[in-house]
Amino acid sequence: MVSERLKLPDMSQTPVVTRFAPSPTGALHIGGARTALFNWLYARGRGGKFLLRIEDTDRARSTPENTQAILDGLTWLGLDWDGEPISQAAGAERHAEVARQMLAEGSAYKCFSTQEEIEAFREEARAKGGSTLFRSPWRDVAEAEHPDAPFAIRIKAPRDGATTIRDEVQGEITIGNDQLDDMVLLRSDGSPVYMLAVVVDDHDMGVTHVIRGDDHMTNAFRQAMIYRAMGWELPVFAHVPLIFGPDGKKLSKRHGATGAAEYQKMGYPAAGMRNYLTRLGWSHGDAEYFSDAEAREWFDLGGIGKSPARFDMKKLENLCRQHIAASDDAALLHEAEEFLAAIGRPKLTEGQRDGLLAAMPHLKERAKTFPELLEKAHFVLADRPIAPDEKSAKNLDDVSRGILAELTPQLQTASWERDTLEGVVTALAEAHGLGLGKLAGALRAALAGRMVSPSVFDMMLVLGRDESVARVKDASA
Ligand code: GLU
Repeated sequence: MVSERLKLPDMSQTPVVTRFAPSPTGALHIGGARTALFNWLYARGRGGKFLLRIEDTDRARSTPENTQAILDGLTWLGLDWDGEPISQAAGAERHAEVARQMLAEGSAYKCFSTQEEIEAFREEARAKGGSTLFRSPWRDVAEAEHPDAPFAIRIKAPRDGATTIRDEVQGEITIGNDQLDDMVLLRSDGSPVYMLAVVVDDHDMGVTHVIRGDDHMTNAFRQAMIYRAMGWELPVFAHVPLIFGPDGKKLSKRHGATGAAEYQKMGYPAAGMRNYLTRLGWSHGDAEYFSDAEAREWFDLGGIGKSPARFDMKKLENLCRQHIAASDDAALLHEAEEFLAAIGRPKLTEGQRDGLLAAMPHLKERAKTFPELLEKAHFVLADRPIAPDEKSAKNLDDVSRGILAELTPQLQTASWERDTLEGVVTALAEAHGLGLGKLAGALRAALAGRMVSPSVFDMMLVLGRDESVARVKDASA
């Protein structure tokens, strides 16, 4: 067998163009989000373009709602695309034109076989135990002998030799051309097939690098036939192993959330999500935590692993925690507001926004998610009188409330600084033979009404004297 190597473009001079080509038959899956992210990083790190193509040719299953959900998911993840998203279905006429061109040039032919004939061929092949790939009897029949009947346009696949594809992740893969059939390009109703649409669109969009799930690897061989027939240069292919769950099986609902929007609604920060998804199947030395700028600089196809990565919630959370801690306060406020909108909560008031921003340095240290951050922020989001929750209320027994009553005048005159406040509260606790913790518990209940909050001194500094004193007064005996 002669191995026929496909012509590869010289990419050193070509500006990079990548694309994400989701089918809008469902929401944005974590795997799709990672594919989009890889394409985005690859293009953005090289001053290239990242395009979006909605593969909506399955009219029955594609919906505008799904398309919108995919765009929303990408937007949440911060993956911006160049130009308008392209509808694959809208290009049907162009796809058909390419099939007709191939017919005119002799790399495709009219096939008049009916469904029944094809089925009969397959049954016979099965019975004989041979290959069931359909071999059309029309491949070499001259035009003059064609009937006046509906026909499909089929590609003339190479019958012998082999095809090798150099994949940036999988390496060189070769298949015998006897495994390729004369696939239909244009159905007898004039509609183009998906495989043709993908190739024509990628070519027309100037896509230089196709980075996608390895479930499309076998498609690449069939697609390569079309490139070759048209004399088009092949893009660089990188087929990325799918994502597995912790048990080593393909990630599915069984493993928990699989939709990008679900992670948004659980309140994971987009930067942490990007970092985690970038690491999921790609590595750069032993770097785990990195910024977007680093990811853009480092991301390359050589760093993509050959075996499937396993989704690990703990790692995701660990990175999210670090990204929240490292984020700018105003940016976190903005993202917290978007999170609240995403889960259908009312908008923050001006006062709540101010409070949240002022408290942010004390909130962001240990939070992995926005719900955690906002729980800690309850003291700036709630209005007086603070209604302590059940657990917190236990810290407000009669004794504690009496001590809080004593604290009020002292807070009114103390200079409003951390050291002084700590001194006042500690001295009062000592005077009553209590540990600081016990009094702090009561004070926390008065100021926040929750067990989870920043330290009582941080809260007092954020709230200011008047509001703090008023809350302590409300809770005291
Ligand atoms: N529409 C395909 C999918 O959602 C992607 C095809 C491609 O990337 O070539 O899996």
